[in-house]
Amino acid sequence: MNAKMPLNPHQFKSQFPLFSQPENTSLVYVDNAATTQKPQCVIDAMSYFYTHQNGNAQRASHRLARASTDMVEKTRRLAADFLGASSEREVVFTAGATEAFNIIAYGLSAFCESGDEIVVSDSEHHANLLPWQRLAQQQQCELQFFKAENGVLDSEQLLAENGMSVINERTRILALSGASNVFGHMLDVTLLATIKKRFPRIIIVLDASQMACHIPLQASDWQCDFLVCSAHKFYGPTGVGLLYAREDYLQQMPPLHLGGEMVDKVELQRSDYVTGVQRFEAGTSSLAAIAGLHGCFQFWQKQDRPAMQAYERELTAYLHDQLSTVCAPSTGLKLITSPNYNVGIVTLVNVDGAFSLSDLAYWLDEHDIAVRVGNHCAQTLWQSVAKKQGADNGLRISLAAYNTMADVDKIIAAVSAFFSVDRTQHLSVVEDWSDIDWQALAEVKSWQKKYKLLINWGNRINHKPQIRQDKFLVEGCESAVWLQYKKENERHYFLIDSDSNIVKGLSALLLVWLNGKTTEEIELINIAERYQQLGLEKHLSPSRMNGFLALLKKAKELL
Ligand code: PMP
Repeated sequence: MNAKMPLNPHQFKSQFPLFSQPENTSLVYVDNAATTQKPQCVIDAMSYFYTHQNGNAQRASHRLARASTDMVEKTRRLAADFLGASSEREVVFTAGATEAFNIIAYGLSAFCESGDEIVVSDSEHHANLLPWQRLAQQQQCELQFFKAENGVLDSEQLLAENGMSVINERTRILALSGASNVFGHMLDVTLLATIKKRFPRIIIVLDASQMACHIPLQASDWQCDFLVCSAHKFYGPTGVGLLYAREDYLQQMPPLHLGGEMVDKVELQRSDYVTGVQRFEAGTSSLAAIAGLHGCFQFWQKQDRPAMQAYERELTAYLHDQLSTVCAPSTGLKLITSPNYNVGIVTLVNVDGAFSLSDLAYWLDEHDIAVRVGNHCAQTLWQSVAKKQGADNGLRISLAAYNTMADVDKIIAAVSAFFSVDRTQHLSVVEDWSDIDWQALAEVKSWQKKYKLLINWGNRINHKPQIRQDKFLVEGCESAVWLQYKKENERHYFLIDSDSNIVKGLSALLLVWLNGKTTEEIELINIAERYQQLGLEKHLSPSRMNGFLALLKKAKELL
């Protein structure tokens, strides 16, 4: 279907109240692969549920419980449409994609035997790897991997000569990513029918977590046996996910969770479970989240998906294009994604280690741009990338339809500025302590005022991603504290960072007393006496005190 009208991203964005809050008007939110923002109708549906309808579903002896049950089953019908399932009898509500994988892997133990092979890529999200590892161990199956250059299976791998291909007659389960959460690259879903035709015994499990927001799902037409996704990644609430499963599997799979509402008859020694989707929904579901999901499906019904797809493609291409202009070799920043067949994910790596990606993310955060740095729960993917690019994590920018070309321009301007300022300036963290009169702290009597002063001083300790490493961590502190030391021209210098504001405040004292001093000058200072003068001890918890003393001890050891 072609788009009727181009998407107006501003109009689209206006449905998401987070962006119109005064503190967020300049926010560029591009961490959508982690979670998306929620439209007003989703928030309203959750609020409506608690305000008007709250009763426990499936326990229907009063009208609230009936209304709640009705809401859950209506949502299941809408979910079937959203997933491209043939019936609501194929839809299980889970807590999210992760739980869905665990339910499937546990249930498929009934379908695997020793010698069977389970195939996944070497680049999966941990949620689509760890449950298979356990299943393979328990059932004595072989876990096999195909190399996924772009994070997904490609047709060449599949079409490799039989026997050469990892997928073969022994394969019982093939668990695939529909779109990589690192590369954004999409699977050619027509491959699934080819696989099914060649190897009808294979059970196909599709991870559609990164697809659902960008591509209309067609679980049944694509010939998936299972498909999973999390609502929070397609504008829905957290705490609810969808598991599509062919009905015949659902009827035979053992349920992972046991408890209320999934049983038929319970005796002291044994129980019979119900058949159907309720068999996999033990206990009370996240009902308000399901109500929000109902609002979310109604939201999707009103969207022009071809227009959204066309717009997101354009935006993804523009972001890649613009970033390639700032990724000069001199920067060490490298783009490892391509805009083709991409669900809107752009990943950058640092190839020469000349700067820290966390610094760049922090810099972007200071410019109100929300991105994510890390391995994105795909460690094995990064083990392959590290071999080729020398980088074991990346900075991910992930788009949604409410992002605009102006957002991209703002990202580019901030990245360019990061590389145009003298890098040592924002990495060397110049902190000036000369104007701090530490005795002022002794003079203020109330703890509230002392506390405020300490916090103000602590705020002057900059965030220093480059020292937030295990080797600089001070042992014995309740909160994380990092301390780095250097000596220059016979003077001692410390860099400190901490997760805790109060610890930063206390550390500021240490810096005021010791930083830039010679050994002789430091020897003249009686820290314990000064500390007593400040009268902090009676206000600080013993663990805080111990933490401060541990920092002091470490600083002295370094001198
Ligand atoms: N698979 C992929 C590809 C993902 O990106 C994620 C979430 N990052 C998951 C599975 C797991 O989703 P959730 O944390 O919502 O269970």
